[in-house]
Amino acid sequence: LMQLFRPLDMLGWVYRTIRQGLIDMADMFGLLDREVEVEDKPGAPALVVKRPTVTFEDVSFGYDRERQILQGLSFEAPAGSTVALVGPSGAGKSTIGRLLFRFYDPWEGRICVDGQDIREVTQESLRRNIGIVPQDSVLFNDTIRYNIAYGRDDPSEEAVRRAAADAAILPFVEALPDGFETEVGERGLKLSGGEKQRVAIARTLLKNPPIVLLDEATSVLDSRTEQDILATLKRVSSGRTTIAIAHRLSTIADADLINVMEAGRIVEQGSHTDLLRRDGLYAEMWNRQQSEDTAVAEAAE
Ligand code: ATP
Repeated sequence: LMQLFRPLDMLGWVYRTIRQGLIDMADMFGLLDREVEVEDKPGAPALVVKRPTVTFEDVSFGYDRERQILQGLSFEAPAGSTVALVGPSGAGKSTIGRLLFRFYDPWEGRICVDGQDIREVTQESLRRNIGIVPQDSVLFNDTIRYNIAYGRDDPSEEAVRRAAADAAILPFVEALPDGFETEVGERGLKLSGGEKQRVAIARTLLKNPPIVLLDEATSVLDSRTEQDILATLKRVSSGRTTIAIAHRLSTIADADLINVMEAGRIVEQGSHTDLLRRDGLYAEMWNRQQSEDTAVAEAAE
């Protein structure tokens, strides 16, 4: 009889694991209170990623029928490149991330990964191929090890340490009396925003996905922390297709392509130098941030 039950047990475990994975992602996107509304097509195959190119083709979308947010948006992130999304608050940058994760389907147009429409493949396979480093990383009330290893089957001690080292959090963890076994989160040690983000970076490095979505924190970090985080984010994006949502333009100035968004449209597209030369919205945002930085530096003197 046990022989009979074991596969059922296994199924339950798989279901719970996937379910937990979805909740985890939804949580990271601040969508916990929303129902997951898209479903896999019956018999949908898994996404097969050989060259992780991401394409948005004429994508229109709104959360409610009455209010359209994205208006016929197109861009391509070729395999291995870094593409940035910048623009004023509310322009629709995070919405693009949510669509790529297929929390919602576009009203019109399509989103492809390596030539496959993401509506045609399983959500589990899609999400397995994309790592996110969210603005506000949510940690589980569990150990640092659990938080880094989350989503992996029993990674080796060595792999967890390497991910922590690459995310520049190893010295911090090692200085704690319980090291990787330290309980964090609401019921344990409270980590700072930067430390939480590093744990999320370590988790992504361990997951090793071909595509990453970086959602830069809005909060102003001191410039040393910002430099440190930038260096670690560079390590995350190296060799992967990266879509970076940025508030500070200095963090994405060397991206291969910058999409400047305003009110759900891409209004300018190009490299940093192209966009400065164009002297439009990007140049205006850049000059404003440069003078703000100068003012902050002068005030600090
Ligand atoms: P920010 O730079 O402030 O993070 P953003 O460019 O990422 O902004 P989005 O978060 O994509 O902007 O939001 C775009 C628009 O969609 C906003 O007007 C917002 O109010 C609306 N919006 C975002 N999430 C939802 C939601 N879950 N339901 C309804 N409307 C939403």
